[in-house]
Amino acid sequence: MQRRDFLGGIACGIAAPFAASAQDIHVPATDWKRTLPEYLSVQVAVVGGGPAGICAAVSAARTGAKVALIERFGVLGGNLTLGHVSPILGAVCPGTMADELRKLLNANHADSPRVKTRNGFEEHIDHEEAKGILAKLTSDAGVQVLLCTSVTDVIRDGNRVTGLVIDTPQGMRRIRADVVIDASGDGRAAAAAGAEVKIGRDSDGLTQPCTLEFVVENVDESVAITAWGGTDPVKLPSGEEYRQLCRRKNQAGELPKNVSIVRLHRTFYPGERSVNATQLNRINPLDPIALGKAETELRGQIDACVAFLRKEVPGFEKCRIKSSAGTLGVRETRRIMGDAMVDDRDVEQGKKYPDAVVHNAWFLIDIHNPAGSGQAEGHSQPAQPYDIRYGSFLPRGIEGMLVAGRCISGTHRAHASYRVMTICMAMGEATGIAAALSVKTGQTPRQIPASAIRDILVKRGVQL
Ligand SMILES: Cc1cc2nc3c(=O)[nH]c(=O)nc-3n(C[C@H](O)[C@H](O)[C@H](O)COP(=O)(O)OP(=O)(O)OC[C@H]3O[C@@H](n4cnc5c(N)ncnc54)[C@H](O)[C@@H]3O)c2cc1C
Repeated sequence: MQRRDFLGGIACGIAAPFAASAQDIHVPATDWKRTLPEYLSVQVAVVGGGPAGICAAVSAARTGAKVALIERFGVLGGNLTLGHVSPILGAVCPGTMADELRKLLNANHADSPRVKTRNGFEEHIDHEEAKGILAKLTSDAGVQVLLCTSVTDVIRDGNRVTGLVIDTPQGMRRIRADVVIDASGDGRAAAAAGAEVKIGRDSDGLTQPCTLEFVVENVDESVAITAWGGTDPVKLPSGEEYRQLCRRKNQAGELPKNVSIVRLHRTFYPGERSVNATQLNRINPLDPIALGKAETELRGQIDACVAFLRKEVPGFEKCRIKSSAGTLGVRETRRIMGDAMVDDRDVEQGKKYPDAVVHNAWFLIDIHNPAGSGQAEGHSQPAQPYDIRYGSFLPRGIEGMLVAGRCISGTHRAHASYRVMTICMAMGEATGIAAALSVKTGQTPRQIPASAIRDILVKRGVQL
């Protein structure tokens, strides 16, 4: 029997156990066109102003479309700003908007020392500066940005999405759009449109844990280490491996449950570390009560991690919190099933496809353990540069809609690779072109051949 999640999306995977009650509530479609005033009419509406949504909106506008970008928070960037995520990870072929964004975010920091890890040079983010950079990027492209506005439903004509329902500070309104791109991370609009949805791993429906990232300052650079993960063999002045110290302190109860590594990334600025450590497992990040509890729990974990750093790690004795994420870091929720999907073999074997619109995507299969500490498979697994086919952005059975970013069509393991920001940016760029071409030609996004998107990418200098 098909299960529906609370927006009406069909959950065709094993339902996440924690979400069972939420998933059975189905809100019947409402005649929004009759009941709500039209606020805006655009050609392309993009849901979510994170890395994928920003690139989708700018890319569609540069291809000639009239575009609105709708973001529920008061600032653009998603995880790149409010989520305090850093560094920018992953790779795609040269020439995409990911290169452009990296350049913009790095422009004032050419002289900043760079850290090389097994994943290449770390690309830091100044989260505060990024807010202005992203706002200017969208505004320069002529994108109409709507802030403090949540998308709550879609407007449909049969199986074709023709607009969005939005909750604005003025109340509920609707937007008319020829094409909608769902870059909400959660696949919120696609689920509302009735898309097939999978959540979590096939065996038990569990998703990757949630994290609140933060930055500490007042670190003594003459002795302080960096540490990119549980396989980083970096040593402390005592000779002990830092990861061993973390494990020891976790087992002794001095670090929070499931926090077996406190990752310490450089930022652009000496004396700072971006800390990716806190962890909450088995929560449903689509459930607002769970989100409220997670906030309290993870703020407590931040304090515990800072206490650990001050007490145990040379150079961190006087560190203090400089800033922290303004929203819970959610790695994984809905994956919207599409005409094609990125599967495990694509990522493991580096499969190439003629209908690819993201080429040579690469990042490790990085599954933060859904059931406990560390990695789900012992350590992150290797990946080969792989292609993402256009069909992975087309929700099965739904017209007038594309998805981009971490909610695209793929397996749980493949998602653990393509969810990183570089790859999400390239997805956004490709879907923005597709949406604008759909508007220009009067064809649905599904009727647009991948070759037409590829032609524009190549004209932009993307090395497909
Ligand atoms: C803790 C953590 C650490 C990570 N570490 C790294 C890392 O080091 N490097 C890396 O490259 N990647 C990392 N990632 C992954 C990466 O940050 C995300 O997968 C990526 O940001 C996804 O981009 P996105 O645009 O799809 O979604 P998001 O960045 O989540 O953006 C989605 C946007 O949509 C908005 N939105 C959601 N619902 C609605 C709605 N209904 N109406 C309007 N707006 C809406 C949100 O507010 C948000 O701004 C990490 C993720 C987490 C959670």
